[in-house]
Amino acid sequence: MKIIFRFHKHNRYSLIPLIAAIHDKFPSIEMAFVGSLNEIMNISPPAVVAYSFMSFDVDWVSQEVNILKKKGYALIAGGPHATAKPEDVIRMGFDHVFKGDGEENILLFLKGERSTVFDGLVKRINIDEYPPFCSDLDLFMPIEITRGCPFGCAYCEVSLIGGKKPRHRSVESIVHHCKSGINKSRYIARFITPNAFGYGSDGMKVNVEAIDNLLYNLKKVGMKEIYFGSFPSDVRPEFVTDEVLKTIKKYVNNRYIILGAQSGSDRVLRLIKRFHTVEHVVRSAEIVLNNGFVPRVDIIFGFPFENEDDLAKTFDLIKKLVKMGCKIHAHTFMPLPGTELESSGHAVLPEWVRRELSRFAQEGNLDGYWEKQLFLSKYLSEL
Ligand code: SF4
Repeated sequence: MKIIFRFHKHNRYSLIPLIAAIHDKFPSIEMAFVGSLNEIMNISPPAVVAYSFMSFDVDWVSQEVNILKKKGYALIAGGPHATAKPEDVIRMGFDHVFKGDGEENILLFLKGERSTVFDGLVKRINIDEYPPFCSDLDLFMPIEITRGCPFGCAYCEVSLIGGKKPRHRSVESIVHHCKSGINKSRYIARFITPNAFGYGSDGMKVNVEAIDNLLYNLKKVGMKEIYFGSFPSDVRPEFVTDEVLKTIKKYVNNRYIILGAQSGSDRVLRLIKRFHTVEHVVRSAEIVLNNGFVPRVDIIFGFPFENEDDLAKTFDLIKKLVKMGCKIHAHTFMPLPGTELESSGHAVLPEWVRRELSRFAQEGNLDGYWEKQLFLSKYLSEL
């Protein structure tokens, strides 16, 4: 069987673990990695084409599926949209859909199992049993150290896709795979996790010892640069303590710590089920600054229930944080399928809010894709 993986800018981190699992368990399977429809069609059927896509990719994926179906390719899909809306994805023309964890189920598929929906939400994997990337094929990505999040924030898909029980990759596994990267001159470690300072715990508290053990061992095997609590992951504000920052400071190269604040209104924080307060955000920013890092604070605008008073409170928080020395990373709310706020409507940002965001950006204190997300928010609400 030939399997063609359709890469695009949003799915690299979803496809590489699947490719790594296949290469690890069935090294003789013929795989191709392509970045366009034309490249797929350069490979003649019979072949399986594998997609992983977000809900805002539905239009272009549908167009490709219509063409490939007529040419006789078999089509499979996983990723966030397939997990949240498996029936819709079957209606788009896919033959098989993979929900949630895909590693074990894609191996079952390759062994000949033919369910319409492979359910990786019910049957969760032990992430230690699968490689996080594929050194042999030079397919690298930040290492996923934790899958799943207990918080289930109302706008976020992570607890649906990865489950509410955090599953941590062991230090032994992380070190083992990082060593294989180092053998290929990959000396920079970045991590994928819903909350970096939750590593090694039940997800509800900090386990400083586990974090220290992880970072110590990565340094010991020769990792030259380590970025922890920064891109592409973040940190919940109430997990920030003096002790954890002093611990990571011994090992890491990041200047920024990314804090998930999301709003300056406690009312909004309650409605989106963040389970922390604005006070936690301010306190965590102080601790981060006192330890010589710069807080980069995520804020989401445009929740459908956000009123003028909430927005004013959020800008008060932003002004306070900027004055302290923080940078702001602004997002616009998107009603993602499978989340509690899926049907709550799209974001609308009043003119004065857009002006303020642009002003903070011009002053060099704010960045983010909030303008693009404003369009995506509307697109998702119309799906
Ligand atoms: S926003 Fe962060 S803390 Fe909330 S559910 Fe998503 S990953 Fe977990």
